[in-house]
Amino acid sequence: MLPDLWFDPSLCLIGGQWVPPATGDTLDLTNPSDGTSLTAIARGTSADIDAAVASAQSARMGEWGRTTAVERGRILTRMGQLVLEHIDTLALLEALDVGKPLTQARNDVIALARYCEFYGGAADKIHGETIPYLDGYTVYTLREPYGVTGHIVPWNYPMQIIGRSVGAALAMGNACVLKPAEEACLTALAFADLAQKAGLPAGALNVVPGLGAEAGAALAEHPGIQHISFTGSVATGSLIQSAAAKNVVPVTLELGGKSPQLVFSDADLDAALPFLVNAGIQNAGQTCSASSRILVQRPVYDEVRARMSASYGNLRAAPATENLELGPLISTRQQAIVQSFIDKGSDLETAATGKIVSNAPANGAYVAPTLFADVPANHTLAQDEIFGPVQVLIPFDTEEEALSIANGTDYGLVASVWSRDGARQMRLARALRSGQVFLNNYGAGGGVELPFGGTGKSGHGREKGFEALLHFSQLKTVAALHG
Ligand code: NAD
Repeated sequence: MLPDLWFDPSLCLIGGQWVPPATGDTLDLTNPSDGTSLTAIARGTSADIDAAVASAQSARMGEWGRTTAVERGRILTRMGQLVLEHIDTLALLEALDVGKPLTQARNDVIALARYCEFYGGAADKIHGETIPYLDGYTVYTLREPYGVTGHIVPWNYPMQIIGRSVGAALAMGNACVLKPAEEACLTALAFADLAQKAGLPAGALNVVPGLGAEAGAALAEHPGIQHISFTGSVATGSLIQSAAAKNVVPVTLELGGKSPQLVFSDADLDAALPFLVNAGIQNAGQTCSASSRILVQRPVYDEVRARMSASYGNLRAAPATENLELGPLISTRQQAIVQSFIDKGSDLETAATGKIVSNAPANGAYVAPTLFADVPANHTLAQDEIFGPVQVLIPFDTEEEALSIANGTDYGLVASVWSRDGARQMRLARALRSGQVFLNNYGAGGGVELPFGGTGKSGHGREKGFEALLHFSQLKTVAALHG
């Protein structure tokens, strides 16, 4: 059951007004913890995207376009404050919608507020520069918004991903059209409403829920969009890049990974152990930066395997509101995908599994966390993104071998090195093919300040940190000849 909401989740937010989708059609939103229906959401189509883009263009030409950087920063800061004032409701909505344990959902609310605060503080601190040039010239650069930015967001971390992309885009003065995932869009709608209450002018943030092939595709190919930010699967990211290419607009793609942790025999295993497991099972493994490959040097391999297996024995998957280690997956479709990967491991040794609690509803999308041992580096389970609570242990002998295995997938999002050897840390930090490298930790607590994004099929472009502000703006050079 949903709590009482202060907005109608079956509507779109376009031009500051809550409106039904043009077709009047809705989609059913399911609670993955028990398979029951949560509510109806709008099934937006190209007509709604057209209206949303037009309202974003009007906002750019109107009040939002005239809003100063200082004032944009203040509005974002107020948005962050309102998010925190609604933390209990937002966390509950995310838990029910995504199936995320309440504590993890609460952390996502805090992260969303922090993005608003960070980008609110940064809005008036990004500026152009003067360039020394020929005699008689004054040359300077202006950093300007793209105009209208499209944001296509997945279901795994709606609040965090909206915070990092919409937050940065708004800070630079863009007007946004947001297409949340059809599986989970309640916090996107709630956030947009809070943004208006915080003083964001009408049309600066528009939200059109709907199916990927309908509302999503219409947004990606819309000629009125000047930049697209997408997080999700490689297949969809590739479609979006093609659509954007037709309009020659830049794209930020964040497409997941197969992120390794390299554990050397000189590592502090007590420190490493919680990270090795948590990085794989957080959000039931449905995390783009999940650590699904654990590479362990042979002298400590048996110990790491035994200790990780013991940790797996304590993992429980349960309804999100029970707030245990794992919730369900997002949907029975995702459950079937992950189960089929586990089945592909039938030729492997299962080191350990966690539990699904005995009172878990039969229609919930639960998968027991599973740890495979002695997995060949070229096995499907060691190569493909599973997006579920499945980790593989891969033994290695030398640093060179570890590096070759770590870099030996199509992806390159996150990697970590556990070793007390400083020279090795520095060597591997350079040599790992990865957008982020962590030394003796994994994830650094999320870090809204830390630029994030991939190489290879993990995507391109960077979100988070100051770097995102550069990606959501473009530079104009002005050269004045005055003699
Ligand atoms: P997806 O990439 O298809 O969906 C992500 C978003 O893109 C959603 O908002 C969806 O509506 C939209 N979308 C889908 N098709 C579109 C299209 N043709 N044009 C424009 N937008 C479109 O992902 P999914 O189907 O939800 O999940 C499939 C797999 O993708 C998962 O098993 C997982 O491996 C991966 N995934 C990765 C991430 C990540 O954070 N990297 C997030 C979600 C899913």
